[in-house]
Amino acid sequence: MMEKEVLKSLEFQLQEGLAWGMDRVSRGKESCEELLKDLRAEIGDCTRCVLCKGRTNIVFGVGNPKAQLMFVGEGPGADEDLKGEPFVGRAGQLLTKMIEAMGLKRSDVYIGNIVKCRPPNNRNPEPDEIAACMPFLKKQIEVINPEVLVCLGKFAAQTLLQTETPISKLRGEFQNYGDIKLMPTYHPAFLLRNPNMKKAVWEDLKMVMKVLGLRVGENHKS
Ligand code: SF4
Repeated sequence: MMEKEVLKSLEFQLQEGLAWGMDRVSRGKESCEELLKDLRAEIGDCTRCVLCKGRTNIVFGVGNPKAQLMFVGEGPGADEDLKGEPFVGRAGQLLTKMIEAMGLKRSDVYIGNIVKCRPPNNRNPEPDEIAACMPFLKKQIEVINPEVLVCLGKFAAQTLLQTETPISKLRGEFQNYGDIKLMPTYHPAFLLRNPNMKKAVWEDLKMVMKVLGLRVGENHKS
């Protein structure tokens, strides 16, 4: 290739790169909201896996489309299925308290799940159900592009990290999900059964707060 052509090609690549970068940087809350709406429309009245048969509502996800902090759980339970919103039952109320203890509101963060329809009797989702639903969560994460992802419980952590390491070993240390920091911690439902583990979760959340530049201190009420 002639020197002139090489220069032209490099110039083109640079412009493309800058344009892409600008798009990522300048993508505002409205456009993220639109992209999430488009994604919800793409899911439609989904029948891509058998979980569609027992659901009342698809539980898409809720919160700030430009959240710096995103929580991912396993799947909707009975309350969530009825309301169409993640984490609204007893475990959800505890999650809300955890968010508030961090000095944030529920509306500041984004909350989603690995699968968007309730597995019967709250069983774990099957691999084919996860495979069918995960592309949607991945797109949500891509659009929101949070600084930190908090995986609530073994199932979310192991699925996003593609590992079988127990949550007791994963928690307390940041992992990477692409270029996003991922903190695995215990699920609020587990904390309802094991309140003595709340301290460990608070330690994990304090590490998250540090990354997000939130003040650790007076917010916490156990
Ligand atoms: S769990 Fe996901 S893939 Fe399965 S039916 Fe519901 S939305 Fe579709």
